[in-house]
Parts: sequence; structure tokens; C-alpha cells
Amino acid sequence: MSHQRCLRYELLGQRGLTLWFTGLSASGKSTICYSLENKLLEERRLCYCLDGDVMRKGINSDLGYTNNDRTENIRRLGEIATILTDMGAITLVAAITPFQKDRSNIKRMHERKRLPFWEVFIDCPLAICEKRDPKSLYVKARNGEIQQFTGIDSPYETPEHPDITLHTANSTIEECVQFLLTKIHCFLSSSNEANYKKTEILNSFIHE
Ligand code: ADP
Repeated sequence: MSHQRCLRYELLGQRGLTLWFTGLSASGKSTICYSLENKLLEERRLCYCLDGDVMRKGINSDLGYTNNDRTENIRRLGEIATILTDMGAITLVAAITPFQKDRSNIKRMHERKRLPFWEVFIDCPLAICEKRDPKSLYVKARNGEIQQFTGIDSPYETPEHPDITLHTANSTIEECVQFLLTKIHCFLSSSNEANYKKTEILNSFIHE
């Protein structure tokens, strides 16, 4: 870990962590992310939600939904996530991320920078996502008004080894958020313990 990163984490009193939420549209990624973000902020923990849909209106507004554009969309989100996590934020990324190779790439991106990364699979059957359809996107995809829609005419490759799987058809939003919060608390308390030995840790980081 770089000296600067170590000082930033010390300043904040927490380590950065990326949680990457992948799953079908309407599976519940954004709902869980924003609710988790609120809980963490109430606890006075620096946290940031990167919503794929929002990013597509800004930095990714030049991208469409071809396979190449989807890959580039995820690559950019991955780069931004590593910067925020390097800064010390708990970074919550909500993006369909349908392809295994893109998920592997962002994981490697984090590993190269020695940043913790959890792949969170928001698992919900297509039929239920389609029934929820909060933005009427499935209706439009079925009517042919939207093309290359994940789950309809574009594939979603199910994660093979996610770090965490949440079944949003069987669990409430609160249960999902509480589960993640407990995991994050464990992560932070194990690293905060390390913070007590600050000088020792700082030295070891400097020598790395
Ligand atoms: P995504 O970000 O995956 O496209 P959204 O969060 O925008 O999905 O929409 C998910 C919808 O499903 C919301 O209307 C939400 O209220 C509903 N929902 C029902 N049960 C759950 C659950 N357990 N977790 C998350 N969302 C749920």
C-alpha cells in the first residue's frame, strides 16, 4: 500500500472497499445500494454510490449497448471505483455488468492496485424482474422499442463465484442491506484494529 493511501485511510479512520453489484435490470441493485449508502452515511462512514444508469448520462453518455460499449462502460466504472476506493471510500457500484470477462477485468483492476473488491450478485429470476419493471423497460424491450436489453435479447452471464449472493425475490430490502452492513462492519473493524498499530503499519507500508 502506498504511503499516501495509508495516510488517507488513517485520516478517514477507515479503509476503502469496493462492492460491485451485478444482476438483471430491476433485480434491486440501485435500491439496495442507495439504502446501504444512507445507512453507512448515517454511521458517518465515507461512502459513494456509483449508479450505472446515472453514469450513462454523464461520463458514459457516448456509449450505447453493443457488447464493446458495455465493456467500455464497465471499464470506466471500474477505473472510477478504484480511485474512490483508493481514496478511502466504501464504493458501491450498481451496474448490470452482464459479461463474466468484464467482471473478471474489474476484479483484476482492483487486485493490481491491491484494493479490496467484493462481487455482489443480486440474484432475482427474470420473471420477477419483469413483473417489477419499475421503469417499464421490460415492456419496451418486449415491444421492440428497446433493443439489446439484458435478459431479453442480450445475455446475462450468471456469476460463477460471486463473493456474496443476495436473493431479492425471497429477502426484503432491509434484510439484504442488514446482511451487507454486517459484512462491512466486520471488514472495517478488522482493519480498524490494525489502525491502532498505526506507526507499525505505516512503516510496513512504506517499506513495501
Ligand atoms: P436495478 O437497479 O437492479 O435495475 P432497482 O433497484 O431500480 O433495480 O429496482 C428494483 C425494484 O424491486 C424496486 O422497485 C424495489 O422496490 C423492488 N424490490 C422488491 N424487493 C426487493 C428486494 N428484496 N431488494 C431490492 N429491491 C426490491
